[in-house]
Amino acid sequence: MGLNFFNAELKCSNCGKVLNSGDEIVVHITLPSQKKMPVGILDKVLSKHSDKVYCKKCSE
Ligand SMILES: [Zn+2]
Repeated sequence: MGLNFFNAELKCSNCGKVLNSGDEIVVHITLPSQKKMPVGILDKVLSKHSDKVYCKKCSE
């Protein structure tokens, strides 16, 4: 176990690569209504609300 910025693991939806702090990522996310706008720790919000997350390689 090394130092890891993320509490929850974010993985690339295409290749399954684990995305770590410092990686560039591309997120496809559907914005909810303003009342339900997610606010919180970014990685948790992403893993909960994002439709797709891609590593830089798969986003190109
Ligand atoms: Zn990938």
